[in-house]
Amino acid sequence: MSELDELYQYMVLDHNNNPRNFKKLENPDRAANGYNPICGDKITLFLQLTNSGNPGESLITDVGFLGSGCAISKASASMMTQSIKGKSQAEAEELFSAFRNMITKAPGSDEHNYDKLGDLSILSGVSNYPSRVKCAILSWHALRAALDGEGASISTE
Ligand code: ZN
Repeated sequence: MSELDELYQYMVLDHNNNPRNFKKLENPDRAANGYNPICGDKITLFLQLTNSGNPGESLITDVGFLGSGCAISKASASMMTQSIKGKSQAEAEELFSAFRNMITKAPGSDEHNYDKLGDLSILSGVSNYPSRVKCAILSWHALRAALDGEGASISTE
């Protein structure tokens, strides 16, 4: 097994067993539900947004999620919450694009994009398992739905 494979397995297990930001926010500014019918993964994502001081720019000052599903969906959601906390809405959208390009092996995506993804790049191995891509990206779709508007629900289908 390669080092990256070992790291991948370790991180997925660790975040699945001990998900970060696994909590409901009591008064979230935004929330969204996500559902992946292929695997049965469910997530509810909560965001606290605060104006950054720049007109029209919000920062994600707190984030939480609840849900049930496979290890990859839960680990991916946990890692996502860590990576978007403190980011602006625009930065979070950029991470979404970079992450999606990575796990769908989009043309033009290469390891340069991995740099900005930090720990999230560990999930690049998911791209070798097309059936798990929807598990890994579920929380990110929920994030975008939450950023787009309140009370949104998305399905990966
Ligand atoms: Zn799944």
